[in-house]
Amino acid sequence: MDEIKISNLEVFGHHGVYAEENTLGQKFLVTARLFTDTKKAGKTDALEDSIDYGDVCRIIKQVMEEQNYKLLETVAEKVAQCLLCTYPSLEGLQLEIKKPWAPIMLPIDTVSVVIERSWHTLCLSIGSNLGNRKEHLDYGVERLRQNPMIRRLRVSTYLETEPYGYTEQPRFLNACIVCQTLLSPMEVLELAHAIEGERNRTREVHWGPRTLDLDILFYDDAVIEEETLTIPHPEMELRQFVLEPLAELVPGYRNPANGKTVRQMLTELGKKG
Ligand code: ATP
Ligand code: CA
Ligand code: CA
Repeated sequence: MDEIKISNLEVFGHHGVYAEENTLGQKFLVTARLFTDTKKAGKTDALEDSIDYGDVCRIIKQVMEEQNYKLLETVAEKVAQCLLCTYPSLEGLQLEIKKPWAPIMLPIDTVSVVIERSWHTLCLSIGSNLGNRKEHLDYGVERLRQNPMIRRLRVSTYLETEPYGYTEQPRFLNACIVCQTLLSPMEVLELAHAIEGERNRTREVHWGPRTLDLDILFYDDAVIEEETLTIPHPEMELRQFVLEPLAELVPGYRNPANGKTVRQMLTELGKKG
């Protein structure tokens, strides 16, 4: 990916663990590599088609001056998040924040923290079969859309489907969502649980009736097998009510666990009946 690079922007700040750092302040040097497609700007020669690096420098300065933090890690995280949320064409960044005057009483050039952060592609399935199903789905979608750590959200059509697994229950309304997120997979799971809780989701019967269910299908091409989180969602291949709406949004998305695209999985499931 192309990048715009800002080297050693000097900011005077008051971050640090020691009291004298907070009162006296010191110099910080910020280097930012902004990953973005510069092709369009390269053709049009128009600033609106690029990221204004002067503007970026002012934002970095502002974030580093408006609040004091103990750790460089926190400063870097705040700056990264602010930049990634400000510029729609920014896909990711690498940020280095140096503290050349770090008070460690030993001769060093500098200490610094380097982080890389970027937007990740997230696919979710959402479903409901209790109460006002459409309202529950709308609520879930809107809660995600309002989250500053989520952008470019698209929703499939809502599909009415037969219950799966445990069939003695009302019909479902199902959909899929594709978006970009700055959250980690675990943070997405926590957010999903929080949103379900806000619709008073309870868990009595496995695969039983629910007001709202939000499952993570894909997170980039990550394969995760942890006690509380499996990605890609292991049942996806067997579920028409997941693959159909997902194929509407990202037919060519490849499942990193089996190498098959969404369209392929849907076709194969159709053949199995
Ligand atoms: P299924 O996951 O087969 O659709 P379910 O959605 O009815 O079943 P829940 O009761 O909602 O199951 O979730 C049980 C647990 O599954 C959650 O607490 C969560 O920790 C875990 N889990 C594992 N992988 C995922 C995932 N990809 N998305 C959401 N939850 C997951
Ligand atoms: Ca589910
Ligand atoms: Ca679930």
